[in-house]
Amino acid sequence: MAKIPYPGHHARPPSGNPTLSAKTIEEPARKIPLYGEYEIVVLGGGPAGIAAAVAAARGGRRTLLIERYGFLGGMGTAAGVTNFCGLHANVYGQMHRVVRGIASELLARIDRLDGINAPHLILGKILAQAYDTAAYKIAADDLLASHRVDVLFHALGAGVVMHDERRVHALMVETKAGRRAVTADVFIDCSGDGDLAAWAGARHEVGDRQGHMLYPSMMFRLNGVDPARAGDAWRTIPALMEKAEAAGTHRFPRKAAIVRPQRSPIEWRVNFTQLAREDGSAISGLEPDDLTRGEIEGRRQAVAAFEFLRTVPGFEKSYIVDLPPQLGIRETRRIVGLYLLSGEDVLDCASFDDSIGVNGWPMESHVAGDVIFKFPPIPQSRGFNELPYRMLIPEGLDNLLVAGRCASMTHEGQSAARVSGACFAMGEAAGTAAAMALDGNAVPRDIAVDKLQDRLKQQGAFIGRGQPIPGGL
Ligand SMILES: Cc1cc2nc3c(=O)[nH]c(=O)nc-3n(C[C@H](O)[C@H](O)[C@H](O)COP(=O)(O)OP(=O)(O)OC[C@H]3O[C@@H](n4cnc5c(N)ncnc54)[C@H](O)[C@@H]3O)c2cc1C
Repeated sequence: MAKIPYPGHHARPPSGNPTLSAKTIEEPARKIPLYGEYEIVVLGGGPAGIAAAVAAARGGRRTLLIERYGFLGGMGTAAGVTNFCGLHANVYGQMHRVVRGIASELLARIDRLDGINAPHLILGKILAQAYDTAAYKIAADDLLASHRVDVLFHALGAGVVMHDERRVHALMVETKAGRRAVTADVFIDCSGDGDLAAWAGARHEVGDRQGHMLYPSMMFRLNGVDPARAGDAWRTIPALMEKAEAAGTHRFPRKAAIVRPQRSPIEWRVNFTQLAREDGSAISGLEPDDLTRGEIEGRRQAVAAFEFLRTVPGFEKSYIVDLPPQLGIRETRRIVGLYLLSGEDVLDCASFDDSIGVNGWPMESHVAGDVIFKFPPIPQSRGFNELPYRMLIPEGLDNLLVAGRCASMTHEGQSAARVSGACFAMGEAAGTAAAMALDGNAVPRDIAVDKLQDRLKQQGAFIGRGQPIPGGL
């Protein structure tokens, strides 16, 4: 296939900050209609936001979840991830599902829609679980409705108005009806990008010490695979890729391609691509021109990957059934909170007095041309680290919590705890903590953590701290 040239004449070339210009336009001050006054507002409807909103509403608080798309699931649906990681841990060689609570309620709903696979083994060491995006979206709608969470779709968070430098007063959202304001007593930033926290002035980091972020990928799914002929193709594809590269018939943007069957064995997900700027650094999910390049180049790479996959036995008659609504972004801003979960915490299976949940996923670093996994010792270790409440609390802000992939972690820590399982756990803890803070007329930072831990356990969550490890998958 002919190489599609980089975005064409109409997009600017991506660089460090391509859209910055000395020219500005003054926007006249205006009165913004109030959409609503809430006790708790959650920005973003990915795994962290879903769990945060359900937990906040379950805590008896009037809760609004705001999402820019018309459906929930975050990267899990919008970027076509279609696979839960981090729900399980390899505990001394035995697999356990260690993320429970609200995640279990969502999984049960997806299962009732017949939309989830049995867990499958990854790298011979850990489990993941594939699902249908349609079932995830429907199950998440139903979960939020059953807890009376108000939802505002098609609303892009666009800025904040502060009470003072420590307290957010209102979140501004852009809707088809124009700009609207939403007030809340406590806000929870589950935007994945730390948008709300950054607007509120929270300190944050991007990338590793040199600013390198995990590379994004454009996921896609194939239909029409012949499952009998394809067999365990995920085992043979890496060697076939090496052969094709050696023969000079194909070139691939990265190693470690993941090609696995979904709920229906004729449908397979493909995690094969890697999106870079012209200088080789990762496309930034915070830069509009980078995102534009990433979407177009991502689709080009998907077609190139598909052309290779059609040479694999069982894939000859397959076709691309879905290119997701957006490029998959793994890492952007990470808020600096009262504790930064680190790579050592993950590898050492760290414990914390203020644990609110656990992460059993290894470090998974999407570096230039490759994906590098680092596991805690298996089977010698318990295979999961605890997640401290402090990683949800940004420095210097009193009525804001942050959960999910933008929570307080180092670049290395985030490469592990960014996956869905830990995001569900962080979201449930943040929503529960926000409601408890309002019950006690306290700021979230000052709530009694032992009471938060008790509440989470009563809700069915597993938080470590010597709690019996749940049996079953
Ligand atoms: C290509 C790829 C493959 C992955 N593979 C896996 C996998 O196999 N298994 C796994 O568990 N994890 C995987 N991950 C990681 C995982 O999907 C994400 O890290 C996880 O979804 C993060 O959850 P979150 O809730 O923190 O944020 P997100 O899932 O990013 O959700 C954030 C939500 O906020 C919304 N939002 C953002 N900004 C605004 C705004 N300003 N206004 C309104 N709404 C906003 C977004 O639309 C989105 O719905 C993968 C990620 C990528 C990119």
